[in-house]
Amino acid sequence: MSSKNEDLQPETLAVHAGVEHDPLTGAVMTPIYQTSTYAQDDVAVHKGYEYSRTDNPTRTALQSSLAALEHGRYALAYSSGMAAIDNLLRLIKPGEHVISGNDVYGGTFRLFDKILQGYGIEFSFVDTGDLAALEAAIQPNTRLVWLETPTNPMLRLTDIEAIGRLAKSHGIWLGVDNTFASPILQRPLELGADFVVHSTTKYIGGHSDVVGGAIILNDKEAYDRLKFLQNAIGAVPGPQDSFLTLRGIKTLAIRMERHSQNAEKIAQFLADHPAVAQVIYPGLDTHPQYELAQKQMKMGGGMISFILHGGEAAARLVANHTQLFTLAESLGGVESLIELPAPMTHASVADSPLAVDPGLVRISVGIEHVEDLINDLKQALHRI
Ligand SMILES: *Cc1c(COP(=O)(O)O)cnc(C)c1O
Repeated sequence: MSSKNEDLQPETLAVHAGVEHDPLTGAVMTPIYQTSTYAQDDVAVHKGYEYSRTDNPTRTALQSSLAALEHGRYALAYSSGMAAIDNLLRLIKPGEHVISGNDVYGGTFRLFDKILQGYGIEFSFVDTGDLAALEAAIQPNTRLVWLETPTNPMLRLTDIEAIGRLAKSHGIWLGVDNTFASPILQRPLELGADFVVHSTTKYIGGHSDVVGGAIILNDKEAYDRLKFLQNAIGAVPGPQDSFLTLRGIKTLAIRMERHSQNAEKIAQFLADHPAVAQVIYPGLDTHPQYELAQKQMKMGGGMISFILHGGEAAARLVANHTQLFTLAESLGGVESLIELPAPMTHASVADSPLAVDPGLVRISVGIEHVEDLINDLKQALHRI
């Protein structure tokens, strides 16, 4: 079905792309090929599979689905989002330079700052929302611009198309971590990115039951190199994890729609609440980049950050008293979560450019009924 993919809508691709009925049994769902190795007809003849670090049919189906959803030619699935980002960065050699957004995911910042710099890769951390600052950071040895949009937890946006143009004019790759938007809300390859990366642990898996990552791209040479690197290094997802991710993808489109619809109503509720000082949500017209959000994203997504008048003490009270919103790290699952970035997800970056307001609250809005979610927040806010 890959030849027809361009004609199909995301909702249809999510259900069908990459999935062939099993030729042996007719099984509608992709079998979990729980095998490490494959019988060969001859020393030089095999059926396309030799060893499961190199390839596994369940993983192949997942990769075809991911490529179709991002409108890319190739996809590689990894054992985690961090493994995908690490593999991508192996395209960069010691002595080369990377420009990274200055409020990327904490684990990404840690990989760049604490590990890869030690291997001789140079990094500059800039506000990728500031095109002039980004251009000023370009050096003769710059190979890659790396960004997230929207960012975590401040939900700042970057104009992918504008940066894509700038990067292309300097012969620099653009990599976009599309975890927060998912391919349903935003497709960076179509806006000029060279690589799209996901933590499929989040919206793509969608059920908080599997850790995974992916890279999607169009360039054959870069794909061949990444495929070589992945096989040589070995950060592959198992067949069970590939199956769970593929199953999650079936409902990705309707989940993203519901996450976004619920989040829009909750953001409005919070904005009207007297205990709330500030709401940050790309789908709210008070967001400083609302126009860019309208242009670049199909909907606002499921993540909201907000600051309470009562600061950190008030934030702790609210986070400890929600009942439907579970106090937990991570995001993107069907169930609603609440967390305080400063003492939780962003504790390891307290003294870095990524440090956040100690009173900041981040919620991952699930797909429950929005009235139940609003009532839960209402009673928790009442504790302050
Ligand atoms: C979670 C996350 C990652 C890391 O992915 P893992 O699957 O946890 O390794 C990278 N980027 C973003 C934006 C994330 O939210």
